[in-house]
Amino acid sequence: MSQQKFSKSRFAAALTRQWQQFGVTCAQAMTQQQWWQAVSGALAEQLAALPQVKPRRAQRHVNYLSMEFLVGRLTGNNLLNLGWYNDVAALLEPYEISLSDLLEQEVDPALGNGGLGRLAACYLDAMATRGQPGTGYGLNYQYGLFRQSFDDGQQKEAPDDWHRDRYPWFHYNRARDVRVGLGGSVIKTEEGKPLWQPDRWFTGEAWELPIVGYRNGVTLPLCLWRARSPQPFNLTRFNDGKYLKAAEDGVNAESLTQVLYPNDNHDEGKALRLMQQYFQCACAIADILRRHHLAGRTLQQLPDFEVIQLNDTHPTIAIPELLRVLLDEHQLDWDAAWHISSRLFAYTNHTLMPEALEKWDERLVRKLLPRHHQIVKEINKRFHALVRQTWPGDDAVWEKVAVLHDRQLRMANLCVVSGFAVNGVAALHSGLVVKDLFPEYHQLWPQKFHNVTNGITPRRWLKQCNPALASLIDQTLNVEWANDLEQLLSLEKHAGKKAFRQRYREIKQQNKRQLADYIQTCTGIIVDPQAMFDVQIKRLHEYKRQHLGLLHILHCYRMLLDNPNAQRVPRVFIFGAKAAPGYVLAKNIIYAINKVAQVINNDPRAADWLKVVLIPDYRVSAAEMIIPAADLSEQISTAGYEASGTGNMKLALNGALTIGTLDGANVEIAEQVGEENIFIFGHSVDEVKALKQQGYDPRKLRKQDKHLDSLLRDLEKGVFSQKDKQAFAPLLHSLTKGGDPWLVLADFASYCAAQQRVDQLWLDSESWTRKAILNTARTGFFSADRAISDYQQRIWQAKR
Ligand SMILES: *Cc1c(COP(=O)(O)O)cnc(C)c1O
Repeated sequence: MSQQKFSKSRFAAALTRQWQQFGVTCAQAMTQQQWWQAVSGALAEQLAALPQVKPRRAQRHVNYLSMEFLVGRLTGNNLLNLGWYNDVAALLEPYEISLSDLLEQEVDPALGNGGLGRLAACYLDAMATRGQPGTGYGLNYQYGLFRQSFDDGQQKEAPDDWHRDRYPWFHYNRARDVRVGLGGSVIKTEEGKPLWQPDRWFTGEAWELPIVGYRNGVTLPLCLWRARSPQPFNLTRFNDGKYLKAAEDGVNAESLTQVLYPNDNHDEGKALRLMQQYFQCACAIADILRRHHLAGRTLQQLPDFEVIQLNDTHPTIAIPELLRVLLDEHQLDWDAAWHISSRLFAYTNHTLMPEALEKWDERLVRKLLPRHHQIVKEINKRFHALVRQTWPGDDAVWEKVAVLHDRQLRMANLCVVSGFAVNGVAALHSGLVVKDLFPEYHQLWPQKFHNVTNGITPRRWLKQCNPALASLIDQTLNVEWANDLEQLLSLEKHAGKKAFRQRYREIKQQNKRQLADYIQTCTGIIVDPQAMFDVQIKRLHEYKRQHLGLLHILHCYRMLLDNPNAQRVPRVFIFGAKAAPGYVLAKNIIYAINKVAQVINNDPRAADWLKVVLIPDYRVSAAEMIIPAADLSEQISTAGYEASGTGNMKLALNGALTIGTLDGANVEIAEQVGEENIFIFGHSVDEVKALKQQGYDPRKLRKQDKHLDSLLRDLEKGVFSQKDKQAFAPLLHSLTKGGDPWLVLADFASYCAAQQRVDQLWLDSESWTRKAILNTARTGFFSADRAISDYQQRIWQAKR
């Protein structure tokens, strides 16, 4: 496929149609927001004419099911992928409209929590770019992830009404409407077959977004379902005299896709969430089957033409839903239906943490999805026979691997039993999936298990967010690297050249000045762009250990006060993090960071040396601003708990050096960039396990380490909270009496030592820059294009 040519006249005509719709008299009369609407609307119109990715021979269509797609702003990204940015900028010039200012008008569609949703978005971009036919299936939430602000340091949440009704990138395709039932009971037909009779109905509306391939003239649809009541008003019920019930049905339908659950790596088990999951899966399955039938294919051919990739267990009900449709609607028998479904589904595991593994109360499942409950029971029963055969008389194994256990439906187990592939998201993590999470399943089906290390799209995460560095790479290599990221390896030889380092450093400096301006605008804090920008940006979670970062800040502050004349490195500690609204400890850590920031930022003794900034409302557009300006990337999770991470990849690619534990993809980053170009510290996975087995007691550690003890004591005494001794009670409890489950204190000394090495290197700016360049040069492996290629070879196109 070749690049799509820009037609100035066609675009101008489309732009005119856009402003005419606003009821203004001329283009000049549009507001900035209307300009953004108009330019995006005109572009969307052109994109609708582009072909979708076509399958090559024997290539299966990939249906990527995810409850979250964190796509970020689309207008700028689409312009870049089309290669039309300069053309459109030039066209707007006569109107004195700056395209880059205009793009700031777009509200991020925040239809995801963090890494998992962003991964889905990167993968669609890479699939479109690599010409992998596919469809993304998700939900069209009215309210995305909450907006975050701070009130005296405490997180406040506000609804994120992103005005989906006015979003110019959406196209509602009425022809794809789907009817979805819920509740009710299962009856027997005259032939004695089970039939589900739901007591509520919804309509699923398909809202499509075009994902644009990088300069290949094709798009891939992201289809986000929105619920409405079957008719604007339920006339049958109205005629029955059930006037109010009809109105209530309407309200329920609206609420189904109203909000995104704000939990990251935590299972909540709420009924509405299960309804959302089912609604999404039922819509997707119906749409996939319709497409398959329309192409004139038989059900038996389904696994030859389609594959369904489940992004974590959130869309697992798609499995019993497909079986229900095959059994009850298409009258297949169990073996025929199972033969189809068991070659269709592949499951990506994203976590080993018990609190994040989804379980549903069987009573709830039976009430909302009585037929699906029967089908899952059947799967469980048949699997039990296999387990009894393999481990005769061993009840302990059955308790571990059963799909239904203790009145709970275990979604990950259902996926492994019913799917043809399971993958972890980094080499270390995939190993632990086999060894710690699913050893028995691995014994039964070793061929099901794979690793696909996560990746990020270099279009958004380098070319778009860091145009200055992208342009330096263009000039230096003079090759297309944005869809072939291993090309960056050729930068290695330039790392040794002083003039190149100088230019690389100047670009980082320029990005840091821009971030400093942004920080001043959104927080009022003035930071020095010459200082080291030390960045920890990710969801707030105990396992990610923002509190370890905080303890190090307290350490630096204390060192400064105790030895005012010692040589030191000026640092700006930059955080970005949202805490789930119900996660008390996470919110307390946010409060602690903000309160410590208030004291340090206002202490004249620290003015030239330390600043602490928590940038509010961390989201994709904020990440795009922060990442190109980062010097140091904090990836300090407790080893064994960050399945992969992708923020680590974005930062390394943009030339930040990583300080991190041997966790997730950090291990592979270290392999790629070389141990001498990364700062590794802390307990390894095996050491973490050993320490826990020995009976780790953080209070002993605290007693032995006077320095650490005094830092904690300052928090206890209220030094950072205007004498309020209770301000950080949840945090302090967790670190001491609570047993410090994430080994913050255990890794503290090693972390500080690694930070010391960071400081040493910073003083030698030529060496620092050399290593930063080598990070950019050697992180091509983490392109989402490589990850998609791995999915193709190992899972989607593998011989079955
Ligand atoms: C990449 C990204 C993440 C994931 O960050 P991790 O450090 O891997 O947890 C979360 N949120 C946003 C907005 C991102 O862009």
